[in-house]
Amino acid sequence: MDTTRIYQKFKEHIDEQRLLINAPMKEHTSFKLGGAAKLLVLPETKEELVHAISVCKEHQLKWYIMGKGSNLIVKEKGYDGVIIKIGDYYNKISVRDELITAQAGALMSSVAAKAMRHALSGAEFASGIPGTVGGAVVMNAGAYGGEMSQITYKVKALDSFVTEVEISGGELNFGYRDSIFHHHPYVILEVYLKLVKGNQKVIRDKMKELSHRRNSKQPLDYPSAGSIFKRPHGNYAGKLIEEAGLKGLSIGGARVSPLHAGFIINEGSATSQDVLDLIAIIQSTVHDKFDILLETEVKIIGDE
Ligand SMILES: Cc1cc2nc3c(=O)[nH]c(=O)nc-3n(C[C@H](O)[C@H](O)[C@H](O)COP(=O)(O)OP(=O)(O)OC[C@H]3O[C@@H](n4cnc5c(N)ncnc54)[C@H](O)[C@@H]3O)c2cc1C
Repeated sequence: MDTTRIYQKFKEHIDEQRLLINAPMKEHTSFKLGGAAKLLVLPETKEELVHAISVCKEHQLKWYIMGKGSNLIVKEKGYDGVIIKIGDYYNKISVRDELITAQAGALMSSVAAKAMRHALSGAEFASGIPGTVGGAVVMNAGAYGGEMSQITYKVKALDSFVTEVEISGGELNFGYRDSIFHHHPYVILEVYLKLVKGNQKVIRDKMKELSHRRNSKQPLDYPSAGSIFKRPHGNYAGKLIEEAGLKGLSIGGARVSPLHAGFIINEGSATSQDVLDLIAIIQSTVHDKFDILLETEVKIIGDE
């Protein structure tokens, strides 16, 4: 990619402080590992986001949209293209009656906190999910019996022609950690969540209780991407990994969490390759023992 020439194009509409050349993705993902993006764009407004995508399309650049990078591994060799990170600046939230409107980069924790302040119930389950509302809709993120499909009223998105479209919740084809966005190249701009009126204290207590449960069950002191694998039908990835004797196994700086075997943690010096090697060992061991193929929930991008 001819970064210098293309860089000028991005600069026409985006402040250069939010255009990072050769950006180490370990500084932009929750796992704190991975190689560099040739160019990392941090849009602040819809216009900047549209401009960034339009430049990528016009110049046929390889590009990828990310939220906060809490479900993302970038390979060691990095990404020879443009990564557009929505989760740092594009994050306004507003409330009207029982409807919350959030720009795609708003954090789920901020959305849930705002809902609580307005005594709106329904988003408590998501208060500890460390990504953006856009990423949460894409992943149909869920916890403790709640998931985004239950509260997503509609989204505004850009289609493959960079035209704005509205998609209702019912058309988003939500499934387990799945949505229309895994199958069609939309970019989510705004998410509308429909909540219900509740009691502020009850909502706050629920969020506290869930946070307590999360803190005691998950290795939150270490960088990770949460659950590495999807839950296999009728079973739990963590349980299978533990029963296969892999809890605590490490490669380089990556380890199967001794607290929760469904998590791989970065003990400080892990590379993406360490994590990918650990994933491969887990998949083959669990397959050999139980004839179950664990599918990754985490998204893996980057060059070979
Ligand atoms: C400690 C920890 C705990 C976690 N707990 C949970 C949990 O309880 N439940 C759960 O479901 N997940 C959990 N996760 C995983 C993760 O937080 C969720 O998947 C989250 O919704 C991802 O959001 P993100 O903004 O970080 O998305 P990213 O990781 O940046 O991206 C995820 C996917 O969404 C796409 N994407 C992001 N934004 C957009 C957009 N605006 N338009 C189009 N595509 C987009 C990306 O291309 C990618 O395919 C956890 C992760 C960690 C680190």
